[in-house]
Amino acid sequence: MLDKKYPAEPYRIKSVEYVKMINKAEREKVIKEAGYNTFLINSEDVYIDLLTDSGTNAMSDRQWAGLMLGDEAYAGSRNWHRLEKTVKELFGFKHVIPTHQGRGAENILSTLAIKKGQYTPGNMYFTTTRYHQEANGGIFHDIVIDEAHDTTIHHPFKGNICLKKLEDLIKKVGAEQIAYVCLAVTVNLAGGQPVSIENMKAVRKLCDKHKIKIFYDATRCVENAYFIKEREKGYANKSIKEIVFEMFSYADGCTMSGKKDCLTNIGGFLCMNDEEMFLRAKELVVVFEGMPSYGGMTGRDMEAMAIGLEESVQEEYIEHRIKQVRYLGEQLLAAGVPIMEPIGGHAVFLDARRFCPHLTQEQLPAQALAARLYVESGVRSMERGIVSAGRDINTGKNHAPKLELVRLTIPRRVYTYAHMDVVARAVIDIHKNSKSIRGLKFVYEPKMLRFFNARFEEI
Ligand SMILES: *Cc1c(COP(=O)(O)O)cnc(C)c1O
Repeated sequence: MLDKKYPAEPYRIKSVEYVKMINKAEREKVIKEAGYNTFLINSEDVYIDLLTDSGTNAMSDRQWAGLMLGDEAYAGSRNWHRLEKTVKELFGFKHVIPTHQGRGAENILSTLAIKKGQYTPGNMYFTTTRYHQEANGGIFHDIVIDEAHDTTIHHPFKGNICLKKLEDLIKKVGAEQIAYVCLAVTVNLAGGQPVSIENMKAVRKLCDKHKIKIFYDATRCVENAYFIKEREKGYANKSIKEIVFEMFSYADGCTMSGKKDCLTNIGGFLCMNDEEMFLRAKELVVVFEGMPSYGGMTGRDMEAMAIGLEESVQEEYIEHRIKQVRYLGEQLLAAGVPIMEPIGGHAVFLDARRFCPHLTQEQLPAQALAARLYVESGVRSMERGIVSAGRDINTGKNHAPKLELVRLTIPRRVYTYAHMDVVARAVIDIHKNSKSIRGLKFVYEPKMLRFFNARFEEI
């Protein structure tokens, strides 16, 4: 089983963390108390936690050793210099601004680059990214290829930008009305789907023609690079490091969440080439995050991040990472469970529309399925559908995304193939009896990013 197709873990285990499993009656009580929202369950009541891959990474012994090298100076920390050098080397940008996490970088970028009423086209939205764009007067416009909205279509680079959609927007509103293009690698909400180098180059060319800037959401850039190596002509023999570097050569800057591909538990940064923007970003970072030499991170965090970034581009690490996710997805496919295809980089997404055809989208099928999975197995997942999409900021109506998904997100270097087997068995069992899943309705709906704190009851 564990061969090239599913390579064994390229590490051995030095420290372990025990997990406990409460029984089903206890889990039924827990989910009711959590208002059927998996975000509101205590971690201690979870057996296998696939809520998110954000900040849940297992650090290496080198990173833990790095924590002891923390230089907690208020200004000019040695760890900052190491992190800055590492980011510049790997990504190739001229300037780096540290932030407490990815959304801190999004806040600064959105504040600096968006004028009220300007568009921020992107290959699908991400929750915090769109929030900051809209809060700064930006108008999100989806320019991902149509295939990304259909869970059944096979496309090697389902995160690609549709050049025609971008061109149409430029024609319609004028290039000066576009703040920048936001290009996410990979696209989280499309199922961790990658973008090809060919597409990045084409977007660069089109944007150059119209003098439009491009900022990447770099959060899962290493996972994207692996898909390029695997699928794109001419890249099989390039190193992950070379591919990552090339990807960013087509961007003007990026926002990065340190909680994903940096293999740390917190942190983030903003990169850019523009001098003027860098000066203004340094002014803003002191207001929102901290000095430009820590930006909300401790010295030890920055050391761990620099080491994590170096480890993240190692070939064995990323190959195992992608294939472990695939291992779970392929078991589900073999049992006829409807999932988003092709299987993406960080998660397996259950297609709740096809999983629960007896429920309408207004009955919140993905939220209901995530709650049921927890009750049956102690596995925690997350809704990515109508609840996450929120309401239109102007009309107040629910966004009704085509994709109604439950995300089984695999933390990096945390679980083994045996854990994936447990998850697969639980999902397959529920699928056999999916008609018994009842819909949900809101009993408390927060105004912003409602999925985090919303509460529901069964209908
Ligand atoms: C997590 C994430 C962010 C935000 O980063 P945080 O570190 O959680 O603030 C932005 N974009 C994408 C695609 C993400 O997955």
